[in-house]
Amino acid sequence: MTIKEKLNNLKSEIPNSVVLVAVSKTKPNNMIMDAYDSGHRIFGENRIQEMITKYESLPKDIEWHMIGHLQRNKVKYIAPFVSLIHGVDSIKLLIEINKQAKKSNRVIQCLLQIHIAKEETKYGIRYSELESVLNYSETLEYINLVGLMGMATFTEDEQIINLEYKNLKEKYDFYKSKYNFSVLSIGMSGDYQNAIIFGSTMIRVGSKIFGERK
Ligand SMILES: *Cc1c(COP(=O)(O)O)cnc(C)c1O
Repeated sequence: MTIKEKLNNLKSEIPNSVVLVAVSKTKPNNMIMDAYDSGHRIFGENRIQEMITKYESLPKDIEWHMIGHLQRNKVKYIAPFVSLIHGVDSIKLLIEINKQAKKSNRVIQCLLQIHIAKEETKYGIRYSELESVLNYSETLEYINLVGLMGMATFTEDEQIINLEYKNLKEKYDFYKSKYNFSVLSIGMSGDYQNAIIFGSTMIRVGSKIFGERK
């Protein structure tokens, strides 16, 4: 199947209300352009340098989503163009994004990444810290916090993943009206169908569109 066919199949399978982020990390420009030529505009990257290189060489109407862990000292490089930052996991990072957004004279859309997985290594804010980070974010003029993001435990056990998504969706619903949330970013190639059942409004799909990564 071509990239175009894979994209079209995927899009026909998901509700119109669910936004598809095509995760193009490690994949070359020509593959991104195949997706672009079939009408797709939203791409996800997890490394700053790779995202900048692609941004500079590809059409300017692409919306670039930073889905990986973001170091504070790298924010300045993407602030002028990034469309949505999924992996915001500390107040310090929010403050830096706010500062760089101001310099670029734009408001940057962000998601708070919540630690939902069992692995210790995965980044994210704990549920216990969420309220205070949300409160603080309201003081930042150049941040538009549009919702939450989560990465489930790396496991074959669907029940574990589903429970993690269900809990995250409950938090999302709890804060949704107060903070004007519109984005719940959960679901990847292996679990996006379940993530949508559990309320995902944005899925991040890479290998299912572009093939396995090395
Ligand atoms: C790589 C990545 C994805 C996509 O993973 P696939 O399994 O290839 O769909 C989604 N989200 C994040 C944060 C990623 O780093």
